[in-house]
Amino acid sequence: MTDHPAMSLQPWLRMRTDQLIQFRWAEVIGALVIISAGDLLFSDALPMPVLIAIAAAMAVANAFFLAYGRRLSAQQGDDIRERYTWFANVQIATDLVALTLLLHFSGGIENPFYLFYIVHVAAASVLLPRRYSLLYAALATFLFSGLVMAEYYQWIPHVHLTGLVSPERYQRGLYVAVVLFAFGGTLFICAYIASAIAEMLVRREEELVRSNLSCEVRAGELATLNRRLAELDKARSQFIRLVTHELRAPVAAIQSYLRLILDGYVPQERQREIIEKSERRALEQLALISDLLDLARLQEGRKQEEQIEAVDVAQVLQGVTDLMQARAEEKDLLFSVQIEEGVPPVRANPEHVKQVWTNLISNAIKYTAPGGIVVVSLSQNPNYVVGIVRDTGIGMTPEQLQHLFEEFYRTEEAKAIERQGTGLGLTIVKRIVESYGGRIWAESEHGRGSKFSFALPKAA
Ligand code: ADP
Repeated sequence: MTDHPAMSLQPWLRMRTDQLIQFRWAEVIGALVIISAGDLLFSDALPMPVLIAIAAAMAVANAFFLAYGRRLSAQQGDDIRERYTWFANVQIATDLVALTLLLHFSGGIENPFYLFYIVHVAAASVLLPRRYSLLYAALATFLFSGLVMAEYYQWIPHVHLTGLVSPERYQRGLYVAVVLFAFGGTLFICAYIASAIAEMLVRREEELVRSNLSCEVRAGELATLNRRLAELDKARSQFIRLVTHELRAPVAAIQSYLRLILDGYVPQERQREIIEKSERRALEQLALISDLLDLARLQEGRKQEEQIEAVDVAQVLQGVTDLMQARAEEKDLLFSVQIEEGVPPVRANPEHVKQVWTNLISNAIKYTAPGGIVVVSLSQNPNYVVGIVRDTGIGMTPEQLQHLFEEFYRTEEAKAIERQGTGLGLTIVKRIVESYGGRIWAESEHGRGSKFSFALPKAA
C-alpha cells in the first residue's frame, strides 16, 4: 500500500476495517448454519457445545473489534495508518486461529471448509501491505498443517465426520502430505495474485483521490476567481453609472441655457453671459472626457514603452511651478518650492510626471483659502524619489481621507469652494504612480491642511 493523501487516508482505512467486521458477522452466522447442518448430516458426531462456543467467542470478539474500530475512527495522528494496520492484523490472526479451532472440532482434514483459509488470506491481501498477505499465507499453512499433523500423530483427538470419508483418511500419510502441499501452494499463489491486484487497485484509487483533490482545489480557485469577476463587474457597472451621470450634468445644463435663449426668455443684453456659462459647462465636459480617457488608458495598463525615459523630476517640477506660481499669487498664497540637490531621475513618461505634480499642486492651491501656505518639496531616500505637497487649506476628516482616491469623490467642502472639478484627478495620479511601482498617500487634518506624498522608484 503506497501513501494515501493525508485527507483521504482515514476514511479509506475505516471503510476497509468496517468491511472486515461486517464480513465476520456473516462468517459467524455462516459457521452456525454449517455447524447445524453438519450436526444433522453426521448424526451427532460433532461436539456441538464446543463449536457453538467458538462461534459465540468470534461474535464477542467481533463486538470488541466494532467498538475499537469506532474509537479508532475518531482518532487522528501521524501513526493512524500503523494503528489501523495492527488492528487489521489482530483481526485476521484471530480469524485464522478461530477457523483452525472450528476445523479441529469438525473433522480436521476431512472438513472441506478448510478452503476458508483462502478467503481470509485473500482478505488480508486486499487490506494490508503485500508482505502481510504472504505472512498470512504462511500462518494459515502453519496452523492448518499443525492441526492436521497433530491429529495425524494423535497428539490431539480427531473428530470423524461419519459417512463423509473413510475414518482412517486423516491417518493416510501420502494423502495428508498431498493435501497440505496443494493447500499451501494454492494459498501462496492466491496471496500473491490477490495482493498484486489489490496493490494495483489501491494505486488507482489513490490516483483518483488525488485527482479528486486537485479538482476540488481547482474548483475552489475558480469560485474565488468567479467572485472576483463578479466584484469587478459590479464595480464596472457602478463606474459606468457614475460616468453617465457626470457626463449628463453639463450637457443638460447647456441644453437648458440654450432653450432659455431659444424660447426668448433671455434679454439680448444677458445672452452673452448665458452663452459664456454654457461654454464653461462645455469646457467642464471636455475636461471630464479628457480625464476619463486618461483613466481608460491607465486602466488598460498599456504603458507606451517608447515614451518611457529617464525623467528629471526636479526639472518637471520647475516647469509646473512656473505655471502654478501665478495662480498662487492670484489667490494671495505663500508658495514655496524646495528641491534637494542631486535627486536622480525616475523612469517614466514625462507627461505622467507632469500630471502628478500639476494635479497635486493645483489641488493644494484650489483648496487653500487666501493667505494660506503651499509648500512643495522634492527629496530622495535610498530607493525612491519623494515628492511632497503641503498646504494649510481645508483639510479632510479621517472618513473623507479614506475615499480620497476613489473615482469622482469630492468632499462637500471642496465642492463649496470650487464648483468645477471631476473628482478623477487623484484617481489618475494614484494609477500613474502605482503603474511605475511607486506609492502615493495623504495625511490631513480637517480645517488645518493636507500633505500629499508620493514616491517613485529611482531609475536603475
Ligand atoms: P477634483 O480636484 O477635481 O475635485 P481630485 O481627484 O483631484 O478631484 O480630488 C478629489 C477630492 O479630494 C477633492 O474634490 C477634494 O475634496 C479632495 N482634495 C484633493 N486635494 C485636496 C487638498 N489639497 N486639500 C483638501 N482636499 C483635497
